[in-house]
Amino acid sequence: MFRALIASLTCAALMCGTAVPTFAQGKGKKGDDDAKETRDTKGTKRVGKRGDEAPVGPATYTSKNFVVNTDLPPDEARDLLKRLETMLTIISKYWGRPNSQTIHMFVVKDLTKWPPGSLDPEGIPSIMEGGGITLGVVQTVLGKPVASKAPVYATADRGTPQHEAVHAYCILNFGTSGPVWYSEGMAEMGQYWKDGEKAVHVHDVVVEHIRRSKPKSLNEIVNGNERTGDSWQNYAWRWALCHLLANNENYAQRFRPLGLDILLKKGTTFEDVYGSMAREISFEYLFFLEHVENGYRCDLCSWDWKAKSKLAKGSVVCTSTIEAARGWQPTRALVKRGEEYQYAATGQWKLEKEGDECDADGSPGGEGRLVGVLFDDYELGEEFDLGVYGTFTAPGDGQLFVRCKDKWNDLGNNSGKLALKVAAANAMKPLPNPRDAKPKGAAKKPDPDARKDSEKE
Ligand SMILES: [Zn+2]
Repeated sequence: MFRALIASLTCAALMCGTAVPTFAQGKGKKGDDDAKETRDTKGTKRVGKRGDEAPVGPATYTSKNFVVNTDLPPDEARDLLKRLETMLTIISKYWGRPNSQTIHMFVVKDLTKWPPGSLDPEGIPSIMEGGGITLGVVQTVLGKPVASKAPVYATADRGTPQHEAVHAYCILNFGTSGPVWYSEGMAEMGQYWKDGEKAVHVHDVVVEHIRRSKPKSLNEIVNGNERTGDSWQNYAWRWALCHLLANNENYAQRFRPLGLDILLKKGTTFEDVYGSMAREISFEYLFFLEHVENGYRCDLCSWDWKAKSKLAKGSVVCTSTIEAARGWQPTRALVKRGEEYQYAATGQWKLEKEGDECDADGSPGGEGRLVGVLFDDYELGEEFDLGVYGTFTAPGDGQLFVRCKDKWNDLGNNSGKLALKVAAANAMKPLPNPRDAKPKGAAKKPDPDARKDSEKE
């Protein structure tokens, strides 16, 4: 929702004009107290009578960093300010720069309630389209871009004011919000950001669009000749890329400095930072697109590129620790198509905080089972069942990865880990069956007779 109009070399009007289709609007309760506190924009006192009567026209609300003009009912307006302040705290911490100027916003629920002349004509078309626009005036002072103002005009849906506020923050504090993919991707993230929240939390249509469509390539997103305000679908791809890079453990550490370089116009590009990891990012990006759902955790599904695998043959036993709360994890075993392998998984894990523990055979319904997949040349094969103990014939060549079978968007509440061994089936001797081993705690417990003795005492 962001179109750059270069008015002159030193002055840019920055606009957003894309509507994400019909999202539920925040509904708060209306109350007497709220109504009394409203002020008219032009200084005329407006007094709300009963709780169900919203102010007739726009009123002004202020908080630490915002001055918001809106025709939203007072309680919704204050709720909006609270959300804006929370988001601003998060993003200014992320970019390491406290907000230096008040952000002025016009948030419109019903355009007919706004007197003529109360809105900048440049802001009205975006609002009529159900989107928003940030009109940034950026001047160059001593060679540096300095924004004198960046008023926001936004439709009063759940996400647009927050999206636009990210643009306004960037323009006011950095003089730019970066190239389209970064500017819009981060603004979309801002719309959804919650402190400490790593899970995907977006509108369902965004998830549906991403999962149903042919994936847009990274190159198309980053280097395509795209403009802001093009389509909500393009915003979905930009969000996906930024969300992945900001949350995946392999890329997050480089993403923040890249963003800062972009905002500070240091000339650093996506390729400079990630060019050497292009295949890895592409793989994880496509994997993310395939599995994205609300609740999905990029951090828990980060691919382990550093693990070294060795060919499971002869007396080689590949050992690994597999956590229930992560996606695919390396067993360090390299397998060959058609060869038979043996495995043994010791330990218990859980799929719910309060749930029962199970072993690698999982529940009768299959949840919690140890499952495998082969990774070869940045491609994944079909998932296949493993378990506590047994053999399998490799369906292809590749590195064996495994995980605890669970919904992809429900890994965060899993706990426990297994010790896994994988070896060739024709190894000199079979792996010990974990079921034959004494339970781990058994050695520590006194044997029944000894307990009887102690109870007698
Ligand atoms: Zn935008």
